[in-house]
Amino acid sequence: MASNRTFTMIKPDAVKNGHIGAILNQINGAGFKIIAMKYTKLSAEKAGEFYAVHSERPFYGELVEFMSSGPIVAAVLEKDNAVDDFRTLIGATNPSEAAEGTIRANYATSIGENAVHGSDSDDNAKIESDFHFAGTEMFA
Ligand code: ADP
Repeated sequence: MASNRTFTMIKPDAVKNGHIGAILNQINGAGFKIIAMKYTKLSAEKAGEFYAVHSERPFYGELVEFMSSGPIVAAVLEKDNAVDDFRTLIGATNPSEAAEGTIRANYATSIGENAVHGSDSDDNAKIESDFHFAGTEMFA
């Protein structure tokens, strides 16, 4: 059975550019319920661990530096078909390819600094949610 949860981060670029409120509003408007949320900052070590799957990619160092460069908002979201629907809501990785009206089309500045993260599978949604939140911090 497909899970109805996904994990997101509002990345340092979008936080710095003042888009937290607008992005959360768009997420709520698309029917997602926030069941966990925190305003926090990743250490380089934690960012490296979170993105370990990309450790062989040429942009890994840049990604870790960026993701630990300032505060983020981490959240767990609930909705039917959450993972796929949230990927649709955020748009393509590269904002120049993201569909009009998607969060990345609206708020991302580049392929690296692309405003939001969204889990790419149910398994990763669970792993990523557990990376950031204890069970007692989720309120379904
Ligand atoms: P997505 O976040 O859309 O699932 P990926 O899993 O492919 O995309 O990449 C993870 C993150 O790594 C991206 O969101 C982006 O911040 C960064 N990234 C991906 N590709 C590049 C690239 N070519 N140059 C710089 N950063 C990149």
